[in-house]
Amino acid sequence: MSRPAASLTRSAPAFRKALARWFARHRRPLPWREAPSAYRTVVSELMLQQTQVATVLPYFERWTQRWPGFADLARADEAEVLAAWAGLGYYRRARLLHGLAKAVAALPAPPTTAEGWVELPGVGPYTAAAVSSIAFGHPAAVVDGNVVRVLARLAGHRRTFASTAAAVRVVTPLAAALLDPRRPGDHNQAMMELGALVCRKASPACDRCPVSRWCASRGAAASIPAFAPKPRRSEQVDRALVVDRRRVLLRRHAKDSPRLAGLAELPLLASLRLKAGKLVAVRKRAITTTTYVERLHLVPAAKVRAAARRQPDLEWVSLADLPFAAVSGPHLRWVTELVGKVAGESKG
Ligand code: SF4
Repeated sequence: MSRPAASLTRSAPAFRKALARWFARHRRPLPWREAPSAYRTVVSELMLQQTQVATVLPYFERWTQRWPGFADLARADEAEVLAAWAGLGYYRRARLLHGLAKAVAALPAPPTTAEGWVELPGVGPYTAAAVSSIAFGHPAAVVDGNVVRVLARLAGHRRTFASTAAAVRVVTPLAAALLDPRRPGDHNQAMMELGALVCRKASPACDRCPVSRWCASRGAAASIPAFAPKPRRSEQVDRALVVDRRRVLLRRHAKDSPRLAGLAELPLLASLRLKAGKLVAVRKRAITTTTYVERLHLVPAAKVRAAARRQPDLEWVSLADLPFAAVSGPHLRWVTELVGKVAGESKG
């Protein structure tokens, strides 16, 4: 532990008190914080991974109204679950949540400790600590991206971390030493909230930080923590947009597909044995370290009717049914945007 971290650890009781006082005054009234339960915490934590709070809010409300508990979600059909998730991206999380609901519903009661939660399918140390501390008061420290940033700054870590996982390993002992054993759930939420509202990535507001007196980076923290750059790559993807009599041709992924199980997308040109169509749009999207350049080609329906009959993973979906057909979020957006523009051009 660095010297500032060791000194901060000695001040842990005063640190907890200052943080708790600040959190009581400044916490955002988020729906998963009202009447917290294991289920609501799990749903919010999974939705919030890689997604902004403002985007998650309406999804969380709809989701918990439709499936108020683990048992309700466990009984849901996977296609329904994926359709309800559409727009949040990273569908792996939806399948994980569904699988987790089935596992919890099969138990006599949900686990109450981080060690119990981490045994369940798809639950990592972060989610296990969040759920067990917030819903059951179990003393496990949460270390997410916000908390890594706050702790690295408090401890004055000026090294370059190879990865987030490496930074988590370095700061976890400090997180555990600072955790308030009497109110671990509130303490964890306060640390995350401090990172989100005050100790922000590019513009830390040190002048209104409740724990600045213990901070080794106060006033000069924007570059902490530093991470080694990840190599980026770019990949071109050519897809067919085929519209025929108010229907669009989609390819549905198999249920055991690792990334897009059960979801439908615009088919690849290559899978239809086509080289090109009329290029109607180019959309870029970044997934982790890869930028996908998605080129959408308008293809006349006559060119693909035979393939659509032959290939069981291809299906015609009526435009009216698209929002309910478990279509990948970006693809649903592209079709909705482009279908008016191309109407009348794709008959053949
Ligand atoms: S003083 Fe500044 S850098 Fe330190 S924890 Fe507070 S906001 Fe972050």
